[in-house]
Amino acid sequence: MPELPEVETTRRKIEPLLLGRTILEVQHDAPHKYRDTHLAAGRRVTGLSRRGKYLMLHLAAAEAATDSPHDLEFVVHLGMTGGFRLEGGKHTRVTLRTDAGDLYFDDPRRFGKMAVVRPGEYEGMPTLAAMGPEPLSDDFREEDFAALAAQAGAVKPWLLSQKPVSGVGNIYADESLWMAGLHPTQTRLTREEAGRLYHAVRDVMGRAVEAGGSSLGKGEGNYRQHDGLSGLFQHAHTVYGKGGEPCPRCGTPIEKSVVAQRGTHHCPQCQPLRRETV
Ligand SMILES: [Zn+2]
Repeated sequence: MPELPEVETTRRKIEPLLLGRTILEVQHDAPHKYRDTHLAAGRRVTGLSRRGKYLMLHLAAAEAATDSPHDLEFVVHLGMTGGFRLEGGKHTRVTLRTDAGDLYFDDPRRFGKMAVVRPGEYEGMPTLAAMGPEPLSDDFREEDFAALAAQAGAVKPWLLSQKPVSGVGNIYADESLWMAGLHPTQTRLTREEAGRLYHAVRDVMGRAVEAGGSSLGKGEGNYRQHDGLSGLFQHAHTVYGKGGEPCPRCGTPIEKSVVAQRGTHHCPQCQPLRRETV
């Protein structure tokens, strides 16, 4: 599943293909999944940004548009298997026709979503509306994070909620918790624990963005950069997908469990559950 580093890599790759281009038409046959995309037609792409795992194409107002004469945002969520390609194929769900050529959105498992909205109006997208700061930005502050962590329930689902920090999905939550030495179900982090986790999140997300994200498996539908190259961060995974293998720090077999319905990997030696004293 694409997480923040994969989505950021996608953004960087498609930016030169879309920036300054005019969208002519958005072709698909699923208006309930790709909402109001007709409003994008005739508009120029003035920027591409990202919030967490959402991509935003900023669209300039079209002078002739009477149904929505404003700047708009074209919001894309890649879902489990979505990605942009230079050539269409059997899993192409959306064709983005521009004045400089076509770009194809492939999505074998069809969990991806798109919507054209007024800037910042994310009703119907509650995760986006309540999203926390970007992990690599100055808005992500250790003191704020620690204050929230002191009140939080089980730390892994809390990270996955996107509220304390945006863009941390299943892989990067497991990697960050391992680096910080925290059990995935630890509640109410101490100031010191929260500090370790804060720096682990920044480190893991930063390295993953640099590496171009993670690619898992060889089957179709796994994340790849749009030119078909694999991301490299999977080679740096320490615990994710390594159930039963020795912890790279202490050699204890990594345990696989389920936390909040998500496959979870941790080292029982390095990440003990701290019982709260009463
Ligand atoms: Zn260990």
